[in-house]
Amino acid sequence: MLNTERCSSIIGWHGITVSVPEEWSFSVYSGDAKAGYFRVDGADDVALEVKWSEEKGIPSLRRVLNDFQKRLRKSSRTAHVEMEFREKPRPLAPLRVHGHIPITFGWRTDRQGYGALWHCKECRRVMLVQVAGRHQQELGQLALRILSTVRDHPAGPEAIWSVYDFTFRAPKEMTLEKHQLKSGYLAFELKGRGVGLVVERWGLANIVLKRDTPSGWLSGALYPRLKAYAYRKEEKGDLHGHPCVRFSGRRSGVKALANRLVRTVSFRQHRDYVSGLGWHCPESNRLFAVLAVGAMERADALCAGVAESVACH
Ligand SMILES: [Zn+2]
Ligand SMILES: [Zn+2]
Repeated sequence: MLNTERCSSIIGWHGITVSVPEEWSFSVYSGDAKAGYFRVDGADDVALEVKWSEEKGIPSLRRVLNDFQKRLRKSSRTAHVEMEFREKPRPLAPLRVHGHIPITFGWRTDRQGYGALWHCKECRRVMLVQVAGRHQQELGQLALRILSTVRDHPAGPEAIWSVYDFTFRAPKEMTLEKHQLKSGYLAFELKGRGVGLVVERWGLANIVLKRDTPSGWLSGALYPRLKAYAYRKEEKGDLHGHPCVRFSGRRSGVKALANRLVRTVSFRQHRDYVSGLGWHCPESNRLFAVLAVGAMERADALCAGVAESVACH
């Protein structure tokens, strides 16, 4: 059963990507780009766990592995089950990360797991990744397939963010400041030097659009984020084959105006410009919006690039 599952759904979180079987879902997460954890749950009590932490010097992977083993031993003792732990389990023998052989391990209690541990010299992350579940023969093969797809840092200038079938790309140096992950609403707020980004997705479009047009509804939904700006709205162009709504304008108010006058003279750069795009995707029954804040050209380019990268259907 497990062998027939294809690794086709991408999870992207803080610059880490991994392909998992389609029906697996992102379930638990904590931390940030520097150190964190997430779990992706599959069917039959199987789960992928990814843990990372940025290390300044040369980390002792041995110590990390020993600590991991100790925690596992402790919890199995509490549960009164035997534990077996071994390195280099056979199913993970072909596993390579950045062209190298990582430390691999396998364990067995009333459950079993296969995992790998490595340090990336480029992003300085120590990665501990495992696939664990109930005893089943194919678990090692499944772990190999999934672990082979783990990337600990983005390959290009952009990071892929992807959870709950919502995927977009953003400059990799932007960090996640705030987020909401609910079934009917997803929001990501990212921050970079001099730029801010909000990417949102709403579900059940057929219901929310019963009494409103996509353009009218988006104006209302985005108003809390746009109200500080003297913005204009245009219905022009399309995105992913859907008509789109464009919002753009400068921060309003006397103080902003004063700041702008000063800045126009000294920097000729404005950080107080908002550029937004919103659209309705009937195919997925969802609404999407991307807002970027920063200097005008940069905000426009960031907004257009991110909106283009959203896979809406
Ligand atoms: Zn890396
Ligand atoms: Zn679409």
